[in-house]
Amino acid sequence: MGWLRGNLHAHTTYSDGVKTPKELLAEYEALGYDFLAITDHEDLIGSSYWRALPRLSTRLLLFHGVELNYRGFDQHIGRVLGDREVLHVLNHPARYKLSIAETLERVRTIQRNGLALDAVEVTDTGHHRPLYASGEIPLVKVATDDAHRPMHFGRAWVEVDAPRERDAIIRAIRAGDFRLGFAPDAD
Ligand SMILES: [Zn+2]
Repeated sequence: MGWLRGNLHAHTTYSDGVKTPKELLAEYEALGYDFLAITDHEDLIGSSYWRALPRLSTRLLLFHGVELNYRGFDQHIGRVLGDREVLHVLNHPARYKLSIAETLERVRTIQRNGLALDAVEVTDTGHHRPLYASGEIPLVKVATDDAHRPMHFGRAWVEVDAPRERDAIIRAIRAGDFRLGFAPDAD
């Protein structure tokens, strides 16, 4: 089976990324990744985004996704779509300079309002922010590039112990069957 390497958070020219989806896929193919989620900002994507994603061809296992703006406070939430499964990620608490207590409060508020979070990012554009690996946060801890520009590509990833299939990967992440990886200069 082997470990599959992937990035769960990436942007293209459909929002504020500098690469087209095709160019982004080529970058991650060149890095030797197994899977990639394209998660452009919901308020920037326009109506053609969801039509364009299925037309992409790549040797990567591609997840369609979106980055949501939480209504109520400034907080991005990643939504990564499998075939039936969906993964929701509390994105980059480090960017909002949240304490653990503030992060927990956000997690509780979001869950109470009906969105079941699965994971929290311990990264900010691929920089490791280990504060958020705290066991006090009741979510699995993922590392992502939040890729907007080439300098972000390949900084931080997950390696998942799962069959090469979208739902299996999401289930494995939810179950904690994965490990984090960081490029040497990602700190
Ligand atoms: Zn993002």
